Amino acid sequence: MSKKIYVVPEPGISNPIIFNHDICNGCNRCMEVCQVDIFIPNPEKGKPPVVLYPGECWYCGCCVGECPNFGAIKLNPLLMNQVHWKSKKNLL
Ligand code: SF4
Ligand code: SF4
Repeated sequence: MSKKIYVVPEPGISNPIIFNHDICNGCNRCMEVCQVDIFIPNPEKGKPPVVLYPGECWYCGCCVGECPNFGAIKLNPLLMNQVHWKSKKNLL
């Protein structure tokens, strides 16, 4: 007898991974390489994995590096880590 399992993504303020649904083919290589298992496979075949534990992401970039389809997945670092340096000359 098969059982249905329901999962609810962890609520949080971070959104570490952004998928491009037009490019991703749901191969799940990003999911397999993640060291902290923040993803689960999408129940719909061919769709990107589901980010179940966004707060656990280390922002290591392994998932992006492993993806065979350029542009299908991108890291979205926390705002405090999005540092933009400026040259003193440009500070008016
Ligand atoms: S950046 Fe690293 S920790 Fe975060 S989802 Fe990708 S592989 Fe996992
Ligand atoms: S983001 Fe890339 S590695 Fe992950 S499922 Fe989509 S195509 Fe595969």
